Amino acid sequence: MTAQLHRLERATSTMDLLHQVAAEGAEPGTAVVAGEQSGGRGSRGRHWESPLGGLWLSVLYRPASAARVELMSLRVGLTVAAALAEIGEPAVRLKWPNDLLLDDRKLGGILCEARWQGDALAWMVVGVGLNVLNPVPDGAVRLAERHPGVTPEELLPGLLDRLRALDGGNAPLTAEELGRFAARDWLCGRRLTAPVAGVAEGIGEDGALLVRGSGGATTALRAGTVELADTAGRS
Ligand code: ATP
Repeated sequence: MTAQLHRLERATSTMDLLHQVAAEGAEPGTAVVAGEQSGGRGSRGRHWESPLGGLWLSVLYRPASAARVELMSLRVGLTVAAALAEIGEPAVRLKWPNDLLLDDRKLGGILCEARWQGDALAWMVVGVGLNVLNPVPDGAVRLAERHPGVTPEELLPGLLDRLRALDGGNAPLTAEELGRFAARDWLCGRRLTAPVAGVAEGIGEDGALLVRGSGGATTALRAGTVELADTAGRS
């Protein structure tokens, strides 16, 4: 059996649909793409605006174990950035743990949702939302601003191939991955106020965000979101 791509004109959420087909035994690599979503979501259940013209895609993974699943969001970010570099946009930055930025504005987001059977990881659905031609909320950006004529259809094959090639594996980030992340790390050098006060100093091989406090001690944040002291301010 090969992994399928389900294409829909509209969906409530590509995440929900893919969880449904995963529960029915779908192969890893199965994907759902929708022209628009009425109930797209970001992290912590926040609404994700997904009108016509964007790329709203979810891909199924069945990792062998739950170890380090939190690395997936970072690996997907690197993958999306690489796919965009291939179509001529090298300047995408990654904001730990799940945002894609262009010109300091939000170009897209990544959402990883795991489903469990008892203590075991049953599957993981990874969502990528990318603003391409669609109208965007304040503070966001769409790819067409820098690449007139780009379409979600044109981006889909390359991005999906790359995402399917990720195995959802649980190896620590390699030196090469850390290097690629560092080259796109939007938070690095920025001052944070929460969940700890300090300056972001990159990520570790376990994907944790490293924050150096004023006393010099480094805190490793494993998950969550950060608050910036000043969105324009660097230390
Ligand atoms: P933040 O963007 O404030 O750091 P976050 O990374 O936790 O928060 P997500 O949960 O990933 O954000 O995404 C939801 C938020 O993204 C929404 O609350 C809204 O502010 C914003 N948003 C919603 N739709 C879009 C979109 N199409 N493009 C860019 N931003 C969006």
